[in-house]
Amino acid sequence: MSALAERYAEVQQRIDAKLSAIGRSRGQVTLVVISKNHPSDLVRDLYALGQTDFGENRDQEAAPKAASVSDLTRARWHFVGQLQTNKVKSVLNYADALHSLDRDSLLDEVAKQTERLERGLDVFIQLNLTDDPGRGGIRPDGLEAFAEQVLEHPRLRLRGVMGVAALDRDPRWDFETIREASCRLQELDYQASDISAGMSHDFEAALEFGATHLRIGTAITGERNL
Ligand SMILES: *Cc1c(COP(=O)(O)O)cnc(C)c1O
Repeated sequence: MSALAERYAEVQQRIDAKLSAIGRSRGQVTLVVISKNHPSDLVRDLYALGQTDFGENRDQEAAPKAASVSDLTRARWHFVGQLQTNKVKSVLNYADALHSLDRDSLLDEVAKQTERLERGLDVFIQLNLTDDPGRGGIRPDGLEAFAEQVLEHPRLRLRGVMGVAALDRDPRWDFETIREASCRLQELDYQASDISAGMSHDFEAALEFGATHLRIGTAITGERNL
């Protein structure tokens, strides 16, 4: 087994073990492998192992990578990084899901471009879990107002909320905030029940707090070559 296949199997085992410990089923959880800073060969290798969902955070890198593996017909691309409005058109060439819908101007552009293309898009509202408004994301107390705007656009399928736990404290603190926000969102739209949370160092904790979409990079891919 290659080192990549070993790491992939180990992470899958850890996900399975945590889910069975807390009584959740594997079918409720999507593993998104973050392939940023790795070549398209890594995507091919993981696809050969059965992985279909991949994530990227920069369009400049993701667009050529997704194009070069467009023969992998079951591959799905998740855009997880901060997105400039002038990159939305490009991202829509390959992405099936946007995890980082975080402001009005981005919502307007995504709504406009999906309408132009007459296509749908899965979206997650990114929460800002810090006190720093410059970090991007919707403040948890502004979630419902923003979600109501998202729900006005029928091409956008609101899947739920997304968050990145702070590194300088127990991630459970932020995962609890995300879970609480998710409950409020579901009162607006019961279908928007997904939670995109959990990375290499905190995915097991995220699963305890209801994460449905894990965004895992280095634990599977190995260190990124920056
Ligand atoms: C890079 C990235 C990840 C994956 O991080 P790892 O620590 O390598 O698992 C997850 N989410 C976002 C938004 C990222 O940019």
